[in-house]
Amino acid sequence: MKMSPKLFILLFMMILNLNSCRNATPPAPVATDDFNYLVDQFEDMRVLKYKLPGFESLSLKQKVYIYYLSQAALSGRDIFWDQNFRYNLKIRKTLEAILESYSGYKEATDYKAFVVYAKRVFFANGIHHHYSSDKLKPGFGESYFSTLVKGSAQDKLPLAKGETADQLISLLSPVIFDEKLFPRKVEQRAGADMVAESASNFYEGVTQKEVESFYAGKIVADDPRPVSLGLNSKVVKLNGKVTEEVYKSGGKYGEAIDVIVSWLEKAAGVAENETQKKELALLIEYYKSGDLRKWDEYNVVWAKNTNSMVDYINGFIENYEDPLGMKATWESIVDYTDLEATKRTQVITANAQWFEDNSPIQPKYRKEKVTGVAAKVINIAMLGGDSYPASPLGINLPNADWIRKDVGSKSVTLANITNAYDVASQGNGFLEEFASDQQEVARIKKYGSVSDALHTDLHECVGHASGKLADGTDPNALKNYASPLEEARADLFALYFMMDKKITELGLLPDEEAGKASYDAYLRNGLLTQMVRIKPGKEIEQAHMRCRSSISHWVYEMGKNENVVEFIKRDGKTYVKINDYQKLKLLFGDLLKEIQRIKSEGDFEAGKKLIEDFGVKVDASLHAEILERYGKLNLAPYTGFVNPVLMPVLDSNGAVTDITLQYVNDYLGQMISYGKNYSFLSVNN
Ligand code: ZN
Repeated sequence: MKMSPKLFILLFMMILNLNSCRNATPPAPVATDDFNYLVDQFEDMRVLKYKLPGFESLSLKQKVYIYYLSQAALSGRDIFWDQNFRYNLKIRKTLEAILESYSGYKEATDYKAFVVYAKRVFFANGIHHHYSSDKLKPGFGESYFSTLVKGSAQDKLPLAKGETADQLISLLSPVIFDEKLFPRKVEQRAGADMVAESASNFYEGVTQKEVESFYAGKIVADDPRPVSLGLNSKVVKLNGKVTEEVYKSGGKYGEAIDVIVSWLEKAAGVAENETQKKELALLIEYYKSGDLRKWDEYNVVWAKNTNSMVDYINGFIENYEDPLGMKATWESIVDYTDLEATKRTQVITANAQWFEDNSPIQPKYRKEKVTGVAAKVINIAMLGGDSYPASPLGINLPNADWIRKDVGSKSVTLANITNAYDVASQGNGFLEEFASDQQEVARIKKYGSVSDALHTDLHECVGHASGKLADGTDPNALKNYASPLEEARADLFALYFMMDKKITELGLLPDEEAGKASYDAYLRNGLLTQMVRIKPGKEIEQAHMRCRSSISHWVYEMGKNENVVEFIKRDGKTYVKINDYQKLKLLFGDLLKEIQRIKSEGDFEAGKKLIEDFGVKVDASLHAEILERYGKLNLAPYTGFVNPVLMPVLDSNGAVTDITLQYVNDYLGQMISYGKNYSFLSVNN
């Protein structure tokens, strides 16, 4: 599973600068630096670059290992394009030829519309929107497309043997322009033949029924370790018989897989430890054979390997793009441990008992012996395939249920990717629109990333781990309210200690102002801005949102007499202002004590009342105001990333002496260069 910005909800959490259990917001050394994250923006998409903090201080061997894995990560790009739609590669190469060689007038409105279309296709790895799955609509017409193709260097066009430019145009024009042809990449509408009506390229010439009976015949009954059936193949009909074309060396996508394997072999030669070598050997065997048992074997070793500095994912992994949820798209990331963040979580877990003993809950519900949970935070060094350019924010793999149960899984948050989101979003006007004054804006800009990261760490490492049930309490007593209440308990644990002097003593925050920044952000979101995710007339349903609304409205109501938190109006706009941060801390503590009691005693009625009274309802007129203000900001809802360029430095004997790191500011340029350097599949087969 991956936590992906493809998911609407997570997207907004980032825009809103929020935390959640599965979506930690990791650290940043400083929130406002001179690094310009925004690289490009067009239609509903923006492109950022991400930093590689600490890359220079990795050992040469680690850097070289990252370099080889990165080359493997980039080498499977064509596979993902072809999986998305069978005409994608031919279209992409046509767009590349036009961008590189069109000799006509480039200031024309039509040409500019063509460039935007090309950027969108590159972003989506094909002609269907990466999130909505709808075919992208070009902002120029069919006849202009013909002009572009004819005005470009003919030897650069992806022509099959004997094919003319005119034939290419008549082949591609309806595919690109006819709205009725291949309208959706993934069609899961009830009643549809999802196989026949989806444009994605996992099946050809077969019906959903045929595919289903094909795989039904392959299920092994009572297998405690079932393979992920159909994960790495395309289903086609051969001489009237349904069959699989397996993705492997010598098979489907073999040309690209062989290049990936060659880089993985080089990587194995410089691996950090024996486990990584064993892993890579299994992965290579799998790529060579296509054997899904090998894939599971590999994943077992990979899942256990949690102590290496450098890690990666590489393979056919997620099945979101297959309407039947079986076939996986190819993807890869390369990453290394964020040592700063890891140090921070270590300080917290080392002090877990202190937090437990000083938590404002009833002593009888404290744990006598608490162990914190160490969360792993990583930085990305390269994104490839289905993870590029739209990257996930967190990853939890492997997917096979039996491996998750028997061996466990790795759960990581992507620090530098999340940080890029955070900082880039600070410049988009959102904060200025909703913060109550300049001081609040300045405080968030200075401390926002650091305090967000700490909030998440406290929530994850000690919040969820704290407290215990009374003897005989049914752990499922809170039923459908369990999830928002549990999130509230972990959030309150974090909020309470954010303003505690222990935090500054431990060096986890620079000063008390950082704690204030987190209180500002939490209430601004809980009372105002999270409403942008709710449609007019609807109530709050999602657990994390109910949690944040409950906490914010509860402390507002309970502190009303002393004006701890107030709503202020200015020029017809509503803002939230905190007047007394220390009293607010105590209110968070009071609510934590009550929610711990509810959990410990399994008091369903009290839990239900708390969530229903404070967490569910939305003030209609305030909601309308927030939506209107938000709409005016015109924020691009989808974010992608350009990769850095990693380059080996060679000595006179050809030995690698260093890997240099260069950041990229040209989105289109990177796409064209990938098309030149990492394209290994033929378009005309
Ligand atoms: Zn949580």
